[in-house]
Amino acid sequence: GAERTKNVLILMSDTGGGHRASAEAIRDAFQIEFGDEYKIFVKDVWKEYTGWPLNDMENQYKFMVKHAQLWKVAFHSTSPRWIHSFYLAAIAAYYAKEVEAGLMEYKPDIIISVHPLMQHIPLWVLKWQGLQKKVIFVTVITDLNSCHPTWFHPGVNRCYCPSQAVAKRASEDGLENSQIRVFGLPIRPSFARAVLSKDDLREELGMDPELPAVLLMGGGEGMGPVKKTALALGETLFDEVHGKPLGQLIIICGRNRGLVSTLESMEWNIPVKVRGFENQMQKWMGACDCIITKAGPGTIAEALIRGLPIILNDYIPGQEKGNVPYVVDNGAGVFTRSPKETARIVAEWFSTKKDELTRMSENSLKLAQPEAVFDIVKDIHELACQRGPLANIPYIFTSSFSSLI
Ligand code: UDP
Repeated sequence: GAERTKNVLILMSDTGGGHRASAEAIRDAFQIEFGDEYKIFVKDVWKEYTGWPLNDMENQYKFMVKHAQLWKVAFHSTSPRWIHSFYLAAIAAYYAKEVEAGLMEYKPDIIISVHPLMQHIPLWVLKWQGLQKKVIFVTVITDLNSCHPTWFHPGVNRCYCPSQAVAKRASEDGLENSQIRVFGLPIRPSFARAVLSKDDLREELGMDPELPAVLLMGGGEGMGPVKKTALALGETLFDEVHGKPLGQLIIICGRNRGLVSTLESMEWNIPVKVRGFENQMQKWMGACDCIITKAGPGTIAEALIRGLPIILNDYIPGQEKGNVPYVVDNGAGVFTRSPKETARIVAEWFSTKKDELTRMSENSLKLAQPEAVFDIVKDIHELACQRGPLANIPYIFTSSFSSLI
């Protein structure tokens, strides 16, 4: 007979662009692989169902990463397990009823967390509802290397790690090997499976058909030394001797509108395009020959799929730091904080060191894991099948959880 559609609740938060991108990647892959078998809800439960500080994570995060030292302290001071457990327990107690209602509204058969702070509280809720054996709970980690220990919770059915380094940490933090899978970082299927020709893309995007192209960006929020780097590139990519440009520059500022207007008001000697938030990143990456970015995991994983050599020019202390050796040690790019140095490297890649550009591009492709998101949803599907018919999850709307406090 017809199986009941299963509900999948994906928990994320709009801190940066990466968590939402991963959540949407998983949603799209479920739809492609399994159609109507699953109904997917992507939710920021904290924002919708709690009060301060949880509902304000987006703004707090933006404030913190702008003041990098503060973020560094917050990241490291909450690392010991007893500190974050205590903190989360206090918050959980305070918002228990709201979070419980928020989770249960979607009657999930499967809960997927793509956020470091969305393991503990939802798992407590399931436990107190007596549902931890019935509802599948998995974590999809979206940091490539150095991730915060709140990602690791021994109560999950699966913990999907994007790299062996993260899997090792998970295992050291007490997860069993049977819980850990390493497939890669989930990237939107529209990106991972896009078949694109560079010539067509350049025409579509109004770019110069011949000149080598460098893409400059700073995550969803347009962070890092974008402006200074753009100015340095504007100078260095202009060949004074022959009076012509060595390359063209694409700057994607994401949601940073101030940056868009600043850069748009400038004069350039080389072809430059300044864009705000773009929904077709796969096209821009496919049209370019290398990329300059802060060490955001989403952008890095996407650039690898497109085979772009990467210049990392910044990272958010804590969770993004480990992404740097991941790229550099694997020969897929370089790290420098200096805009002048960045511009010099690009100019060399476009003139005297073309072979280095080619070699790094090959290394990028070797690291790429475009199928990761499909491997993840297929594995979750298998878990769901093993569980047998999920038809009768007894969702009871009692206050069992809150009354324990
Ligand atoms: N992104 C996008 N359009 C833009 C800028 C960024 O779709 O104009 C996407 C980018 O492709 C990536 C994500 O936003 O998937 C950024 O994630 P990342 O982990 O690199 O950095 P974050 O913004 O989370 O700090």
